[in-house]
Amino acid sequence: MNSASPRVNSPAPQRFSVVVVGAGPAGLTVGTILRAAGVDCLLLETGTREFIERRPRAGVIEEWAVRGLERRGLARNLLERAQAHTECEFRFGGERYRFEYTGLTGRHHFIYPQQFLVTDLVREYADVRGGEIRFGVRDVRLHGLEAGRPSVSYVCSDTGERRFVDADFIAGCDGARGVSRAALPSDRVRVARHDYGVGWLALLAQAPPSADCVVFGMHPRGFAGHMARGPEVTRYYLQCPPGDDPENWPHDRVWAELRERLGAVGAPPLKEGRLIERRVLDMHGYVVEPMAHGRLFLAGDAAHLTAPIAAKGLNLALHDAFLLGDGLVAHLTKGDDTGLSGYSATCLARVWDYQEFSEWLAEMYHGTASGDPFRAGAALARLRRLFDSPVAATAFAEQYLGARTSG
Ligand code: FAD
Repeated sequence: MNSASPRVNSPAPQRFSVVVVGAGPAGLTVGTILRAAGVDCLLLETGTREFIERRPRAGVIEEWAVRGLERRGLARNLLERAQAHTECEFRFGGERYRFEYTGLTGRHHFIYPQQFLVTDLVREYADVRGGEIRFGVRDVRLHGLEAGRPSVSYVCSDTGERRFVDADFIAGCDGARGVSRAALPSDRVRVARHDYGVGWLALLAQAPPSADCVVFGMHPRGFAGHMARGPEVTRYYLQCPPGDDPENWPHDRVWAELRERLGAVGAPPLKEGRLIERRVLDMHGYVVEPMAHGRLFLAGDAAHLTAPIAAKGLNLALHDAFLLGDGLVAHLTKGDDTGLSGYSATCLARVWDYQEFSEWLAEMYHGTASGDPFRAGAALARLRRLFDSPVAATAFAEQYLGARTSG
């Protein structure tokens, strides 16, 4: 929304160099980078602090992303508490296939729940670096983009008043359901979309992990996944029809289906527990090109959604945020425009690389259950190649870890 700004009867506008819309991993990382360089910025977030610090989503973070956080002083807790994973396991046809990716790349994954990272980043931004953040804002609107005089307005939850904030730049980091993306003029951007035609029932179980690594089950009844989130909580996925109602998946049905789809000779039994999250995610993605217009820059899910098939969304959000934060600092403190002018193209190279990998992986996960013997045969060939061909295995490991492109 790029609306005109009716400022009648509203308090005098405030001014910040940068207004960041959305306090997810992307927005908070941009904010902390700006604060470290002494740039004044304001973060606007519709949720409460408690809500965003508890919202469970991702958990698999690539090594280059962790190193990027570490270089910016943002990974102390993560490095103390995260588990390092060096391999994953595929289960198919009742057999287990162990895949050791660290041996092929020298890199590993970090397992650290997204809400812990968000908690660390909020503390660093607001409590340590003194950044200003307003929680619980409503009806956020972007103004003045075409005129090159950006501002953001929102309704204050306490007073019900609309407040205006002028800015040199707006960072649109408000995720897939935010308002920033719609502020890009539709005749200047292209939105590429892909629908995988399947749903995933995303589950969180109050139970210890049932394996020492991520497990992917390819089964004629549908894909199933197992991902540790911590000693007492484990994420599971079950492929389901898109738009399915989570109420169709009571406790006993979930565990019976997980046992069936993840069953394999020699596999330890699943450690069952209470289901504390059950939601259906329709597997789809989009990419907005370019990711910037004038003084508005999008980052993270606001600009591109990758279905959680390959666990890439958080990693891409961090990649964007590093580039945007550094680019804004270079512009605002040194007048150096190199980072901002190359921002969209540099981000999109990694975005498309990850989208392509997600599409490739999706076919391997879902082909078996497609009901199409041709797709099922091809999916099996794709899987076997990882264990028959060292070259294919290395290529897969690089993409799985995001290790091919530089951080
Ligand atoms: P978000 O995290 O969505 O943050 C956007 C913020 O903006 C939110 O706090 C929101 O409340 C706020 N907001 C929204 N609208 C407005 C507005 N109008 N004004 C102000 N604020 C607003 N990715 C991985 O890399 N690895 C994984 O293992 C993985 N697993 C996942 C599992 C699940 C179940 C899901 C749903 C996602 C998973 N992802 C994973 C994806 C990852 O969670 C997202 O890509 C990531 O959260 C994107 O970060 P972001 O900062 O761009 O957006």
